[in-house]
Amino acid sequence: MLTIGVDVGGTSIKSALIEVGNPKNVDSYEILKFFSLPTEALKGRDAIVDNIVRSITQFGCLDECEAVSVASAGTIDWDSGKVTFATQALPGFTGLELSKTLSEKLGRRVVAINDAVGALIGEGMLGAGKKYGSVMMFTLGTGLGASFLKDKKLDAQSVVDTRLGHLCLYENGRDCLCGKKGCAEAYVSATALKKYGNENLYHLFKATDAVQRKVMTDFYKNLTKVALKSVELYKPDLIIVGGGVIELAEYWWQSFLKEYKSNCNTPIACASLGNKAGVLGSVYAMLNGTFNQQ
Ligand SMILES: [Zn+2]
Repeated sequence: MLTIGVDVGGTSIKSALIEVGNPKNVDSYEILKFFSLPTEALKGRDAIVDNIVRSITQFGCLDECEAVSVASAGTIDWDSGKVTFATQALPGFTGLELSKTLSEKLGRRVVAINDAVGALIGEGMLGAGKKYGSVMMFTLGTGLGASFLKDKKLDAQSVVDTRLGHLCLYENGRDCLCGKKGCAEAYVSATALKKYGNENLYHLFKATDAVQRKVMTDFYKNLTKVALKSVELYKPDLIIVGGGVIELAEYWWQSFLKEYKSNCNTPIACASLGNKAGVLGSVYAMLNGTFNQQ
């Protein structure tokens, strides 16, 4: 069957035309076409919604598509597909009935989930985690996302935003955007590496001077600490590390693994789907998840 998956962020909207052989067979999902267009978030809610619609209709085959699914930034109620909270990254989205609005505009059922959840389900079910049970995924970007998928069940209770990014690693440590001090994401995120190491991550990972090497060895230790805490609290069968930092994994991953493996036995892997995890995960969730009202 033909499906369309969409991934809405503050800067771009990615969409994919995805052929699915058997919804339960993780090897039967094939991306036929993939596009990215600007969100134009500054133009406000209606413009963003119009762009989401355009990202779907541009394939020109909505009539042949059996299902459409959207993963979007913001907190989205699992059952209703309503955005219960969104930051200024998507102005006016707080309170928007996203799945209902899109369903009406497109004339077919649309399921909406959170974008981090979409990426977690994509990697957990179809990507790096496909041979494992419960999966913890860290996303290193502006902040540190940490979401957990329990026993591969796709319902509101089994998909957990752990908020481990705001786990206190150091009493009275660095300032965090959340207002507290010493949070994990003030140490383990692309933002932190740029701020305390080098604005250019490629240069940081290749650097040989003592100061930047220290930033990296501290990063390995801190990421290991967060991973250990996640194992203690959630007992994942696999930890997946994703986000922009993983695009440069060849320069740092092996060094990190030395630190990690001397402290933790839980398998760990890099995310494998890149910027396609969200579109794939949203479609997989729609076809296999338990949604009460969407
Ligand atoms: Zn914090």
